[in-house]
Amino acid sequence: MPGPGEFELIREYFSSRFQTEGQPNSGAQGYANQSVVLGIGDDCALLNPPTGKILATSVDTLVADVHFPASADPFRIASRALRVNLSDLAGMNAEPLWFTLALTLPESNPDWLEPFARGLAETAHAYGITLIGGDTTKGPLSITIQVTGACDVPLRRDGASAGDHIFVSNTLGAGAAALPIVLGDIEGSPEQQQQTEAAYYFPEPQFAVARAIGKYASAALDISDGLLGDLGHICEASGLGAELDLERLPIAPLAQSVKGERALQTALTGGDDYQLCFTVPEQHLRALGALQLPITAIGRMNTESGVRCRLHGVDWQPSGTSFQHF
Ligand code: ADP
Ligand code: MG
Repeated sequence: MPGPGEFELIREYFSSRFQTEGQPNSGAQGYANQSVVLGIGDDCALLNPPTGKILATSVDTLVADVHFPASADPFRIASRALRVNLSDLAGMNAEPLWFTLALTLPESNPDWLEPFARGLAETAHAYGITLIGGDTTKGPLSITIQVTGACDVPLRRDGASAGDHIFVSNTLGAGAAALPIVLGDIEGSPEQQQQTEAAYYFPEPQFAVARAIGKYASAALDISDGLLGDLGHICEASGLGAELDLERLPIAPLAQSVKGERALQTALTGGDDYQLCFTVPEQHLRALGALQLPITAIGRMNTESGVRCRLHGVDWQPSGTSFQHF
């Protein structure tokens, strides 16, 4: 039996779940998003930006068999696709408002679309973001999401100063350590399987940390391609260098299960962590510490160039750099 045609598909799986008939200003989940004047269904969405805020916008594409296994559960694919985009908003200290979805599908298959739409709606609801439009095409499976948020105090990459302390949120390495288990190359214990699920398909965009550090941090970003490369972006944008004390790196339990210095390597260059890396001037350390956030100081910014790693005071050379597509 053929699946729904293009417009029926959009109505059934997307507009009906994100808009209530006759109430274009409220999401299907019952939360109001007053900033949406007109959602899915016309040539454009019409939006009313919050007054006095700066809008932050970002887009990311997830390609099947590059960013996720094509055969993965569609509910989980949707969760990951939206969460990795939300992480960019968190990296800027922006609050989620709206997103668009450009979906390329090999076929119109309700068995795939139903759990995908459910994963998307549940994730969107959890983070208070609403779908306002998109595009639907036929081709190899690919998911492009554009998110827009609003910020009071944006956290840019170019604000660090020499002497600032470098922090990361939570732990590093789980995203990369999860990959061989996601791909089925390693089986993993039941506990590792569960940690893999969480890290790979349900990464937590760090909005709470971003909000809390907003007035103390001088620069920030989300770690999507690995700490070394992403901290390198802060260095470059701020015209500085950095020194890391590797023994202080908070390594995720899943990455620790890989033996020895490979755990360090995974935490440094693995990518897919979606934690925050940020810098804080010395004078704010005490106030920041009082907040008891899940963050760890791992090094300092300096006037050199590039990121230098030391392990117990001895220079340590990572064997690779961060993920790059080309
Ligand atoms: P147009 O031809 O004017 O660009 P489309 O026919 O592509 O419009 O889409 C019709 C409406 O459905 C638009 O409001 C568009 O934003 C929305 N839409 C299309 N695909 C999706 C999707 N995958 N998710 C959400 N909204 C979508
Ligand atoms: Mg049009």
